[in-house]
Amino acid sequence: MIGCGEAANAGVSPRKLAMSNVVNEVLAANKTYVNGFGAKGELPLPPARHFAILTCMDARLDPAKYAGLAEGDAHVIRNAGGRATDDAIRSLVISHKLLGTKEWFVIHHTNCGMELFSDEVMANLLEDNLATASFDGKAWSNPHHGGGHAAGHFIKWHTIKNQEPSVVQDVRRIREHPLVPADVPIYGYVYDVKTGRLNEVKAATASGKTAAA
Ligand code: ZN
Repeated sequence: MIGCGEAANAGVSPRKLAMSNVVNEVLAANKTYVNGFGAKGELPLPPARHFAILTCMDARLDPAKYAGLAEGDAHVIRNAGGRATDDAIRSLVISHKLLGTKEWFVIHHTNCGMELFSDEVMANLLEDNLATASFDGKAWSNPHHGGGHAAGHFIKWHTIKNQEPSVVQDVRRIREHPLVPADVPIYGYVYDVKTGRLNEVKAATASGKTAAA
């Protein structure tokens, strides 16, 4: 039986050609970057400005630009949603304990993709089929059916219902983690994708204040 997925992969797939173009573009851009690399090879490993940002992987967000970072300045930890997952906390703890960051930001953003699904929706889509789903503004649907897996039901996807409470929740989770020292302040912000502005979530920053503050 030939499924839709197999038919799409037959012959020279347009997707494969597109991937090659991406690789070529990346390598060409890297060549230019290397040519202008200058003294950056001498940068020390610990971040010079002693802070870290936990933020979303969204392609519209560029922490180096929105927060004014140069190479060597700060740690940027990214995942879907900018959520305070166990792995994000692992990175933050390393960032402080071994590399000396002293202040942390949690930055979520408006119009985040993590607001557009629930754990159940994601798990059901994956159980049906693994190809990229589409969203019509209300619901997600798969392009094909079959070939999926139920493993998605065992993953917590860390979706977001409202940005501000999610920032508060994540700052609080980091603040209360036993491996996070009380003297590291944690600030909460929502980045506005329409304006590029960082808007403070005051309740989050209040939750993230140091024990001494
Ligand atoms: Zn996002």
